[in-house]
Amino acid sequence: MIIVLRPSASEKDIRVLTAKIRALGLSPHVSRGKERTVIPVIGDERVLAAVPLLSYPFVEKVLPVLAPYKLVSREFHPRTTVVRTRGLAVGEKRIALIAGPCSVENEAMIVRIAKAVKRAGATGLRGGAFKPRSSPYSFQGLGEEGLRYLAAARDATGLAVVTEVLDTRHVELVARYADVLQIGARNMQNFELLKEAGMSGKPVLLKRGLSATLKEFLQAAEYVVSRGNDQVMLCERGIRAIEDFTRNTFDLNALPVLRELTHLPLVADPSQATGKWSWVHPMSLAAVAAGADALIVEVHDRPEEARSDGEQSIVPARFAALVRAVRRVARAVGRTA
Ligand code: PEP
Ligand code: MN
Repeated sequence: MIIVLRPSASEKDIRVLTAKIRALGLSPHVSRGKERTVIPVIGDERVLAAVPLLSYPFVEKVLPVLAPYKLVSREFHPRTTVVRTRGLAVGEKRIALIAGPCSVENEAMIVRIAKAVKRAGATGLRGGAFKPRSSPYSFQGLGEEGLRYLAAARDATGLAVVTEVLDTRHVELVARYADVLQIGARNMQNFELLKEAGMSGKPVLLKRGLSATLKEFLQAAEYVVSRGNDQVMLCERGIRAIEDFTRNTFDLNALPVLRELTHLPLVADPSQATGKWSWVHPMSLAAVAAGADALIVEVHDRPEEARSDGEQSIVPARFAALVRAVRRVARAVGRTA
């Protein structure tokens, strides 16, 4: 349930109430807004239902939460959250661009591509060091060596590093090098990994599962936020549908729907969504028009030699052209890039 306080509620009132809630074995998450403070409470609601909360003069109302997620809901936090790390800000009026190769292959290539995407306007660098591949015989990533190369690319450019963590055993290691932990589509419902990421102290870019509903997606994000980390971005990257001409079906509907349901900022990944470089440009623009706060795009300067996802990677010159087009669409929908 969500407890809404009157504008006149004092800090002492908040302390009294939260102490009471904690004493009942529940956890209050105080959210101070401009106008008033709201306190969503996590735990067995029946315990709290027995307490006459409205008898406190500073409590205005008590709302049951119907949605199966609470902390990520817009009901709880009316303003869009901005995720910030280094020069990367996702959730502001300005559309953020995260770009880079599918996987880190060696130091020279990641530094070279990082410089190219930065020049074009990116503020985040993507690149996988731990890769979730469908086949155990495909390139699995360079592991910690790849993380070191990503850190070198960050040192050379100042870009914020976004990289995937596949396993709870690696959260600490990846968090040591990365600015943002990516949780991939295949791990969206790896609840232990979500909890660890929630305690890592790093922002999380959570990808939608291959066949996850938006409710399941939001519940997955709730796992991370309920561990005390509200720096979470939701990434639409295409879902499994009947069409197999494209790698996935880009669910653009998800963007306006999520915008209404949650305060978490939204990222779109047109690369995994389409599976082919020539479709990345139009679908990136469509995502911006539909309300994405950021794009994450695969860029490789030698896609024919890429060790993963070369067919959906665009070259740096095309990325630069894409950024120019994104700026035009952003302006048309009242944003900047
Ligand atoms: C990726 O970003 O390279 C990736 C593997 O993404 P997803 O988890 O969305 O498939
Ligand atoms: Mn990829």
